[in-house]
Amino acid sequence: MSGSRVLEMAREQLAHAAKYLDLDPGLHEVLSRPKRQLIVNFPVVMDNGEVHCYEGYRVQHNTGRGPTKGGIRYHPDVDVEETTALAMWMTWKCAVADIPYGGAKGGVKVDTKKLSLRELEKLTRRFATEINIVIGERSDIPAPDIGTNGQVMAWIMDTISMQTGYTVPGVITGKPIPLGGSQGRIEATGRGVIVAAHEACKERNIDLNKQRIVVQGFGNVGSVAAELAHRDGATIVGISDARGAIYNPNGLPISELYHKYSGRDGGIAEYADCEKITNEQLLELDCDILIPAAIQQQITAKNMANIKASIIVEGANGPTTIDADNYLTDKGVMVVPDILANAGGVIVSYFEWVQDLQNFFWEEGEVNNKLDRIMRRAYLGVAETRDKFKCDMRTAAMIIGVQRVSEATQARGIFP
Ligand code: NAD
Repeated sequence: MSGSRVLEMAREQLAHAAKYLDLDPGLHEVLSRPKRQLIVNFPVVMDNGEVHCYEGYRVQHNTGRGPTKGGIRYHPDVDVEETTALAMWMTWKCAVADIPYGGAKGGVKVDTKKLSLRELEKLTRRFATEINIVIGERSDIPAPDIGTNGQVMAWIMDTISMQTGYTVPGVITGKPIPLGGSQGRIEATGRGVIVAAHEACKERNIDLNKQRIVVQGFGNVGSVAAELAHRDGATIVGISDARGAIYNPNGLPISELYHKYSGRDGGIAEYADCEKITNEQLLELDCDILIPAAIQQQITAKNMANIKASIIVEGANGPTTIDADNYLTDKGVMVVPDILANAGGVIVSYFEWVQDLQNFFWEEGEVNNKLDRIMRRAYLGVAETRDKFKCDMRTAAMIIGVQRVSEATQARGIFP
């Protein structure tokens, strides 16, 4: 699905929430546009001496509630419109979690599988240099997303530090722990997804520990979510990565798979004791909870009628199209939306930033307890708003997000 369609979807979601809030049309217009979009084209000398030109983006959607925050995605399909939609979702997500940030997102149109490690480092350092004019520890703080990881964050931190003249750990989050990263950051998004899943189960009077779960994507978010749910006693019947999916109705040995294959794209296909299925089949498996944790636009008009889960917890950003969302909600499926369910990552990124600015670091238990508290508070706030407005969870989360950002914008006033 094209970036323009993803942006259209983000704007439709905003328009839907705006109706409930009777949002001022001028403010609606402001919120439907990004504050700043930077497009960069930059060269990289490849290992064979050839020069390749890459296109990258940094989009800042809204700064009403604080500096902007959002990941950097390396993927061949990234474009400025998709990046803008993702930046918008970050604004609402930070507001729903009630952390003092606006939303941003960045990306480079690149297939990292085709790069050597050295080429990846050069691309990253040059991209960081190109976007250095808009990022900063007090203005816009990137983080990892699809295709980027702690090593990429470390290169960006080092590049900005070299250009500043001293170490600036607070310019980016998701760094390795020795460089000012936070305990618990790697697991944070998956952990938050499972906190949200527990809360959803409580509302349905069921116990997560007894549910059959399917997880799409076995990267950072999916693998941790699967591992934590498995540790809590749930049965993970299916998982997948970009190259395919595996299924065992009696449960997969997630801890073993987690240690062997998480972070190794395509690895799970090596596992023998299971049935090999496609990603399409995975989403339609018989299960209680479905956790899409790969990419956007996976649950659509094409497969919505075949989805069997009664609870969907969105680990990925934008995995459910509006058609499918409406259809599933009408059918009684509880869809816990991305801007709530996967907020754990930005919440612990916020903790990392606070620790970096203070040069004072917390223990993992403290990080996890604070994450747990904020996730539960955000979930309960969304559930309360859903009941008040008699709407679905996504609309409720959007109402909270848009309302908080609007209040901040109105209180600040429009300059000059
Ligand atoms: P990742 O790169 O670590 O993992 C992505 C996983 O999805 C991999 O297993 C990959 O093989 C799989 N995948 C890719 N394309 C696929 C396809 N077409 N079908 C099935 N599987 C596919 O990325 P991640 O950090 O785990 O992010 C996953 C999703 O979660 C993204 O939508 C991202 O925006 C969102 N998210 C991530 C974080 C975070 O902290 N990492 C926070 C919030 C939201």
